[in-house]
Amino acid sequence: MTVRVGQGFDVHAFSDDPARKLVLGGVVFDGERGLVGHSDADVIAHACADALLGAAGLGDIGQHFPDTDPKWAGADSIGLLSEVARLVRESGFEPGNVDAAVVCERPKLAPRRDEMCQRLSGAVGAPVTVKGNRAEGLGAIGRGEGIACFAVAVVER
Ligand code: MG
Repeated sequence: MTVRVGQGFDVHAFSDDPARKLVLGGVVFDGERGLVGHSDADVIAHACADALLGAAGLGDIGQHFPDTDPKWAGADSIGLLSEVARLVRESGFEPGNVDAAVVCERPKLAPRRDEMCQRLSGAVGAPVTVKGNRAEGLGAIGRGEGIACFAVAVVER
């Protein structure tokens, strides 16, 4: 059996547009500031997608879903993530699992963690786990200017 690992990272700044919804792991956080982005700016789904693409040697999310393409404007990133999982399978690999570490001062992720894991796992067709960390006031993320996410994925064939 061949096992391969991939790493993903993404960061999005908070938006000043009150109409933008905050979407994390496919879950809408009502009453929280949304993130700036061409798609729904779901930083967790994007990091997971990049980790899977990297593991399968399929490049990165920007190659497959360019943010210059109007087709992806406001896109549901859970849909992008399931398309990535399809591409991974098409290339002969099976996603094993994905683990994501989110860095943000807010919102609190723990109350919605199970929902996020469910939606992400459903999109990938394999277990996706999400952990939350604060930046302890350090740097841009610590000042609450945005949200970052790191992810690691394993694929096998
Ligand atoms: Mg992104």
